[in-house]
Amino acid sequence: MRCEIVAVGTELLLGQIVDTNSAWLGEQLALAGIDHTHSQVVGDNLGRIVEALTLAVERSDAVIVCGGLGPTQDDITREAIAQVMGVRLVQDDDVADRILEMFASRGRRMPANNLRQAMVPEGAVAIADPQPGTAPGLICPVGPDGRKVIYALPGVPYEMKAIVAGAVLPDLQRRSGEPAIIRSRTLRTWGESESGLAERLADHVAELDVSGRVTLAYLASGIEGIKVRITVKAGSEAEAQRLLGEEEAVLRELLGSLVFGVDDMAMEHAVAELLVERGHTLAVAESLTGGLVAARLVNVPGASGWFRGGVVAYASDVKYDLLDVPEGPVVSEEAAAAMATGVRARLG
Ligand code: ATP
Ligand code: MG
Repeated sequence: MRCEIVAVGTELLLGQIVDTNSAWLGEQLALAGIDHTHSQVVGDNLGRIVEALTLAVERSDAVIVCGGLGPTQDDITREAIAQVMGVRLVQDDDVADRILEMFASRGRRMPANNLRQAMVPEGAVAIADPQPGTAPGLICPVGPDGRKVIYALPGVPYEMKAIVAGAVLPDLQRRSGEPAIIRSRTLRTWGESESGLAERLADHVAELDVSGRVTLAYLASGIEGIKVRITVKAGSEAEAQRLLGEEEAVLRELLGSLVFGVDDMAMEHAVAELLVERGHTLAVAESLTGGLVAARLVNVPGASGWFRGGVVAYASDVKYDLLDVPEGPVVSEEAAAAMATGVRARLG
């Protein structure tokens, strides 16, 4: 079962809004164990939406399209789906009634445009909206025997999420047949380049490629180091956790002390753990970083138990006077060591 996402909206292409819907959908598909192989963004243009959906249906079993389902003239996703299905748009009376009722109950006149939302491609099923009065989603069977499917969802994130959780994921899981889950764990490393890591792990990755159940990815993350993400596919939560644990052990063996943390554990958390373990306290002397190191350390819960404080010695004479750095060049290993010694003495 291969799933593809198509986000519709010219404002996405222009960078006016960020496509958070696709990111959220990607995460949900991974958690549900459904392979997500492609993702497209397309503007509010009928021809191009049809093109995007046609390509998606060709190479994927299920397509989730979000955006362009509203009542206005620029909301043309339902027309595009009807073209891809090769059918007309027909009025869904239940949906029309719900829209009429919603306006009546609020004592408001309904703009005629709103009935556009009751038009559905012939053969599609409207997903009753959990949030009454908003655009309903659609389940649209496509392809020979309707074996493939397009799910149409509103672009507004909270409406989209409600429909995905209530209707789309259960339908996808029913269609995919095999219940599988995908889980990830990230090992955080420092001290080796991305290509260096890849070199150390090359033989191991070749073995993984053969077995096919565990994959690795490198994510270079600037001052956060390089993350090595383990992803496994399994039939149950317990099996997934077992595979992750086994793979983590193998990687720790291969990478040794390059690994400083797992998942959300940042460097300052790792430092805090070691300090607590050893019963040590810490003071920092900084120059170029202007207090950045201290700022991160104090964000660790319980930092007052081990963090003494810091000195930001930017000017050379502050390094000499306050941290007892010997007069001379201050951008050197010797000067850095002297700053550390100095701040340890000053702050106890
Ligand atoms: P409406 O009834 O509001 O017109 P719609 O289904 O037609 O709903 P759009 O018009 O495409 O959806 O988008 C409505 C709003 O939803 C956008 O202005 C934006 O705030 C948000 N939105 C749409 N697509 C996305 C996306 N991919 N990621 C995040 N937010 C989005
Ligand atoms: Mg709209």
